Amino acid sequence: MDALLRAQEAAAPEVGQGRLAEYIPSLAAVDPHQFGMVVASCDGQVHAVGDADVRFSVQSISKVFTLALVVATEGEGIWDRVSREPSGNPFNSLLQLDQEAGRPRNPFINAGALVVTDRLHALTGGACDALCDLMRRESGRADVGSDPVVARSELEAGHRTWALAHLLASYGNLECPVDQVIHEYVAQCALSMTCRELALAALFLARDGVLSDGSPFLSARQAKRINAVMLTCGTYDSAGEFAYRVGLPSKSGVGGGILAVIPDRGVACVWSPALGPSGSSAAGLAALDAFTTYSDWTVF
Ligand code: GLU
Repeated sequence: MDALLRAQEAAAPEVGQGRLAEYIPSLAAVDPHQFGMVVASCDGQVHAVGDADVRFSVQSISKVFTLALVVATEGEGIWDRVSREPSGNPFNSLLQLDQEAGRPRNPFINAGALVVTDRLHALTGGACDALCDLMRRESGRADVGSDPVVARSELEAGHRTWALAHLLASYGNLECPVDQVIHEYVAQCALSMTCRELALAALFLARDGVLSDGSPFLSARQAKRINAVMLTCGTYDSAGEFAYRVGLPSKSGVGGGILAVIPDRGVACVWSPALGPSGSSAAGLAALDAFTTYSDWTVF
């Protein structure tokens, strides 16, 4: 696929440029000079370049799937507890959460994701297990799972996450005990997957909510809405710049992955660990920018 090769070419100068997520010690140990990208289309074609089959820590990308699971299980009730506006603030900000009385701005900043994980755990009795089931089924890989070393690393160093969860609890916006929610949350973020596996697992968002076996998971309206929240809130406090350059519903993670949905066409997933100033993978952003420039896989 020509646009994929051009994306890889455009990203090359950015690979290794930037910082690793040092606040999670085991992510700081990853080789930053890696790059992989996959484009999976709704009609079953998969194109890959570079380190497309190397597993990495999906981190915040997991938040798309936990939100989808909650919405699929009980509809729109989660929006009573979480808003859907861009935050314009760092993804782990305590100030905004306190100022807004414990109601997170959106489900993709850490506070919002903790509420979603809390709800999923209350609904299923095992938030991370429910997530792993979905990812295994849709990626076709039974060995997909959470990396306990990464989870422990974040559990021990994630003081802000603990603070956010306690603040949410103080406002009555958690159902489960704080330590249970945190354990599930770090485990879901520590999910280890390749670009290929992630792209396949996310295809339901490009297929109006339909899973790989043809069964309905989300309604078309729910899938549209999750894509909309990804476009406005999925790439930290630079979602505007990201939309300007890439123009696709996307979710990035501090492990260096970015997932982008092209409704009715497919999914692109790119990974390169070094993060630019926006907190998203620098090479990943350059690759997606080029991909939407040199292909007609766009929504605009
Ligand atoms: N587990 C990470 C955290 O809570 C996820 C952040 C991210 O990928 O944006 O800080």
